[in-house]
Amino acid sequence: MIYLDSAATTPTDPAVVEAMLPFLREHFANPSASYSAARMVRKAVQTAREQVATLIGAHADEIVFTSCGTESINTAIASVRASWPEKTDLIIADTEHAATLEAAKRWNGQVIRAPVNRDGLIDLNQLRALLRPGHAALVSILWANNETGVIAPMHEITEIAHAAGALVHADAVQAAGKIEIDLRNMPVDFLSLSGHKFHAPKGIGALFVSQRVRFAPLLVGGGQENGRRSGTENVPGIVALGKAASLCDQHDLQPLRDHFEQRLISALPDSIIHGAQAIRLPNITSICLPGIDAAGMLILLDKANIACSAGSACHSAALHPSHVLEAMGFDAAHAASTLRFSFSRFNTKSESEAAAQAVIEAVHKIRSARGGSSAVIMN
Ligand code: PLP
Repeated sequence: MIYLDSAATTPTDPAVVEAMLPFLREHFANPSASYSAARMVRKAVQTAREQVATLIGAHADEIVFTSCGTESINTAIASVRASWPEKTDLIIADTEHAATLEAAKRWNGQVIRAPVNRDGLIDLNQLRALLRPGHAALVSILWANNETGVIAPMHEITEIAHAAGALVHADAVQAAGKIEIDLRNMPVDFLSLSGHKFHAPKGIGALFVSQRVRFAPLLVGGGQENGRRSGTENVPGIVALGKAASLCDQHDLQPLRDHFEQRLISALPDSIIHGAQAIRLPNITSICLPGIDAAGMLILLDKANIACSAGSACHSAALHPSHVLEAMGFDAAHAASTLRFSFSRFNTKSESEAAAQAVIEAVHKIRSARGGSSAVIMN
């Protein structure tokens, strides 16, 4: 299989599996226990905390381990609502991940949605206008979009939000490990990340909580994670997350992605790459193949042993119109002709070439079978 769906989840790095195995076998002690076997496990958790902190330029004690990106996002949003009850406004973009959109539904106050332009970027002047000083509590923004890879201007967003007295949460689930994140120069207040997007297993995530801000935990109980996330620690997952963070050494994925895009654009010149004018993650391409039904393409590509997705499929097997493309001003037919390919360091140049060739052949096959230009629904 040529796996080009790493925005949905990445293959676990064998070195990460090796690192976690002892914590599934012999080092099973509860890190809260007092005997020496537990001290060793506690030390491993602390090492992982430092590794994750290093990845994003944070202090180790600003890292809270969670079960996934979704939990981190929900925690950040709920924490701000609980900690600043006097401030009522949550500001998000129209293109947020479902984790943020759904968490926003529980925000007991005003949720203000910032529209995006054709490249998926919010207008900074509009953001300024949406922030009501004294009311704006939190701006929660995707650092990099999971469908298009478009990178938000986090620096400017953070400056604008702070100037209006609001805190900032960055959903860096896609960005972490793909672009440099250094929170020493980027004073966001909360940041979410998820292990399975950078070669750790599923079921482990982290939330950065700046030392500057108040925090209210989502999960309460035994007081683990310094009272910030109760529940016995997922030690193998935490060790894996730390190891995976330490292996994020800026592999240059852009040549693979760019080669793929260039092959498609030269063979299928009517293709449209979303966010092409914006700065994007180096590993994601979201491409519309006009008149081609993405669901049918997925079937053809699956037969050719290529795994990719139609729009955003990381949260459901069902295909539904992409709210991201809709927010960017594209209609449902356009969205239904869109595929997302996402690369990781386990892909090769020859895979990029073979996948491009397979996509081109599949498009030609559909178009010649049809002999016209309207969308074909494959059975
Ligand atoms: N945020 C973004 C941008 C994502 O791509 C995902 C992936 O599904 C999530 C949040 C949720 O992360 P998780 O699957 O770890 O809950």
